[in-house]
Amino acid sequence: MKHNLRTKLSVSYILVAIISIVLLSVFSNYFLDKYFQEYVKQNQEQKSEEIVQSLVQLYQINGVWEDGFLEGVGVSALQKDLIIKIKDQDGRILWDANVHNQGKCLLIIEEMAQNMKRYHPSLDGSYEEKTYLVLHDDVVIGQVEIGYYAPYHLNESDVEFLFTLNKVHIGVGVFSLFFALLVGGLMARRLSTPISRVTDAAQMISQGYYDDRIEEESNTIEIQQLTQSINNLALSLQSQELLRKRLTADVAHELRTPLATLQSHMEAMIEGIWEADKTRLESCHEEIMRIGRMIGGLEKLARYESENLILDKTNFDISELINRILPNFENSFKAKDIKVEFSGGQVMVFADKDKISQVIVNLLANAFKYTPQGGRIEIHVNNIEDEIAISLRDNGIGITKDDLPYIFERFYRADESRNSLTGGLGLGLTITKAIVDAHKGKITVKSECDIGTEFVVLLPKQ
Ligand code: ATP
Ligand code: MG
Repeated sequence: MKHNLRTKLSVSYILVAIISIVLLSVFSNYFLDKYFQEYVKQNQEQKSEEIVQSLVQLYQINGVWEDGFLEGVGVSALQKDLIIKIKDQDGRILWDANVHNQGKCLLIIEEMAQNMKRYHPSLDGSYEEKTYLVLHDDVVIGQVEIGYYAPYHLNESDVEFLFTLNKVHIGVGVFSLFFALLVGGLMARRLSTPISRVTDAAQMISQGYYDDRIEEESNTIEIQQLTQSINNLALSLQSQELLRKRLTADVAHELRTPLATLQSHMEAMIEGIWEADKTRLESCHEEIMRIGRMIGGLEKLARYESENLILDKTNFDISELINRILPNFENSFKAKDIKVEFSGGQVMVFADKDKISQVIVNLLANAFKYTPQGGRIEIHVNNIEDEIAISLRDNGIGITKDDLPYIFERFYRADESRNSLTGGLGLGLTITKAIVDAHKGKITVKSECDIGTEFVVLLPKQ
């Protein structure tokens, strides 16, 4: 059977309270009974000893048993509910409480029996007499028989005390139960409310409502972590969803233009409006190639952007890598009369060499594309504490302030008209950033129109 958290918590609190109360009552009653019995017996023994002692003292004073004094001891014992019988060394009765006041003695015995029945009904007690020898200088000078209720007896105030204690126990028990119910209910509410909220939010998320956020704060660490995780889950699902929608829209948009061009060219050629000559076929081929490049670029991006991109990291010198890439661009740079300056000694880094070389190639390709004839490109590498910095500066056309925030977005190309000439896909920087991010690095850009652009890539050394 399934129960909600609130019921379960409340029931467990009450159960714990009941078990504690029962255990506490059983143990305290057991020990109280035991030690109280001890105490009562000791007390009784002490009183008997006192009577014997006072008899010894009386004998010491007079040297004989004086009736008047004996009565004094007997009556004071009777006042303490002790029924005594004093005898001389030969066993002759000198003073007997029963003779002195039989009514009182019977009352005392009756009362003791009643008290014990009230408090301890199962205890099968009875009235008994115990004989003590009265010794003076190790010589028996008399005997005293002290009557008591065996095995022990409680007087009125003892019974009252024990009953009051029991009442206190019951009171504490009832109060604890009530308290457990209250605290249990409150705690259960405090725990179950945020959890129900999390469940609702999770259900909303599963139905695709990613905007729902749990605002309630909890001072229970685990619950706070749970709500935070659900919020983060909603956020990441929301951004994934956004990304997915945007990617689909972007791809559709990017493919439509070249496909439309292709379609119109082909139709014109099929319908005989255009002659299918080499130039037109080449132009169609160029569009097809472009679509192919775009799909290739998207595949690469998808790979680099995926969270579990595996980096094949090695230790290598970044300067050496750049020195190996530069010759590949030599002819193009010469053709545009662009000067390339590279400075920086050995700078070691622990990274994926192929992917970092892709970063440098992309940045160099951009610098080359967007720097006019006779321009200049400066590349610099250096160590900054536990990072390495690669900077690539050109004095090309620059990027406007409006475009700058978007250049890392996929398919984004600043100023379409200029770019149609260069034929970029707008994926180079997106791929570059994905690689840098995968290395837990950073890429920044500074640019001014018609003055130039500087990209700085920071990579952790390890
Ligand atoms: P692709 O690299 O995919 O072939 P692309 O070069 O147009 O195409 P990105 O490399 O992502 O795309 O660059 C995005 C845009 O940023 C470019 O279209 C360009 O407008 C701008 N840009 C990038 N680098 C520079 C630069 N060095 N100087 C001026 N503008 C630049
Ligand atoms: Mg590019």
